[in-house]
Amino acid sequence: MHTNTPTTSSIIRPVFSDALRAKLDTSGPRYTSYPTADRFNERFGPLQYSQALQHRVIGTDIGKRAPFSVYLHIPFCESLCYYCACNKIITKHHERAMPYLDALETELDMHVRALGRGQPVSQIHFGGGTPTFLSDAELERLMASLRHAFSITSDAEISIEVDPRTANRERLASLQAMGFNRLSFGVQDFDETVQKAVHRIQSYESVRDLMEGARELGYTSINMDLIYGLPFQTAESFATTLERVRALRPDRIALYAYAHLPTRFKPQRRISEDDLPSAPTRLTLLQSAINGFLDEGYVYIGMDHFALPDDTLAKARQAGRLQRNFQGYSTHPDCDIIALGVSAIGRIGPTYSQNVKTLDEYYARISQRQFAIERGLKLTRDDLIRRAVIMELMCQGRLDYELTSCHLGINPQYYFATELSELDAFEEHGLLERTPQGIQVTPTGWFFIRAIAMTFDYHIRASGRLASFSRIV
Ligand code: SF4
Repeated sequence: MHTNTPTTSSIIRPVFSDALRAKLDTSGPRYTSYPTADRFNERFGPLQYSQALQHRVIGTDIGKRAPFSVYLHIPFCESLCYYCACNKIITKHHERAMPYLDALETELDMHVRALGRGQPVSQIHFGGGTPTFLSDAELERLMASLRHAFSITSDAEISIEVDPRTANRERLASLQAMGFNRLSFGVQDFDETVQKAVHRIQSYESVRDLMEGARELGYTSINMDLIYGLPFQTAESFATTLERVRALRPDRIALYAYAHLPTRFKPQRRISEDDLPSAPTRLTLLQSAINGFLDEGYVYIGMDHFALPDDTLAKARQAGRLQRNFQGYSTHPDCDIIALGVSAIGRIGPTYSQNVKTLDEYYARISQRQFAIERGLKLTRDDLIRRAVIMELMCQGRLDYELTSCHLGINPQYYFATELSELDAFEEHGLLERTPQGIQVTPTGWFFIRAIAMTFDYHIRASGRLASFSRIV
């Protein structure tokens, strides 16, 4: 089966006809995991997590396991962005970081005791919240603890989300000295009116300075997060933002759709629905961003990600090695994730788990040296089969019957007979092609990949529940 990776020379722009626009008007999971986190339950707790770690140790002994990925959640932020849907604590009291660091180190030590010291780690990500809420000394302390606990591979990706309002060139140099080699800047939009409406003011000049500083320091992978669908965004204002982004030329761009769910996320109540762009304007914003990035030579990775052709993400996409995890698309092989900190989500073998969501609960559990798992899931055989198929679609845009049969020991045409019969509408709209060998998602179909993947989601099929997910566009 041919691959469908867009290259700069074979860029095909998605065309959103009226029929497609109507079809895009739906919600769906982002599939950073399958089953999605709303399926986790409290029957999976600290005991089940310990057992999963023990099974992991058996796998390590026989030398079959890939290195770990480690995620650290730093929940503190100095001020509230009104669009925020993250688990965070707004505070200007930086002394609150100290007990949190103590707890993180205890949680780390509990993992060392369960797994043994020196387990290989090839990926570390600091997310939040605002990881750069921590001082250089605090970040350094955490990095030292990680190095003491694990054996970090020489080519490890060590990344951090940087709030431009909390960083300057000196800070970037300190981060580099600590071992960070990837940065992600939260930008969202450069327009002042939009920034005021979402309560996140940061000038273009300050971000430009940081980008220039990062490049001078030799950071090779710089990501920029943008959001479309924010209050007061117009085609003209967003065009100016996009022009500025293109001038800064980050290696990667994540372009997220703002999901206005004020009943679920309290900060969003400060955003008036009347100020949000209409559905047709949202689509215009999306389309102009896609076209602009493709014109600049970016490769469309999938979902909401773009990367320059020589970035490792674009190369992984081209080579069919793309993966998807809780941080989005990744170049790393399907690996287990140790998640540390309040609300963090991890993955060990055929299990997912999430820590408790409040600081009080987190401290209470960790002070008892009990894993802070609040809920999780042990995947069934069917979950594992569907996860492989959904990730194949999300990452490679295809389903190859023969490969699937070899890897999963099933006949996909038989196992998924119902699901496959429901793909007619996608085919009619030109979103995928079916051959006797399998399914191939078309360039336009990539923008609907969540909807296509949803066809194979048992839990959505069984419950029909979509309300809790964000809009596809
Ligand atoms: S968007 Fe980021 S920086 Fe803003 S409040 Fe949420 S977690 Fe904090």
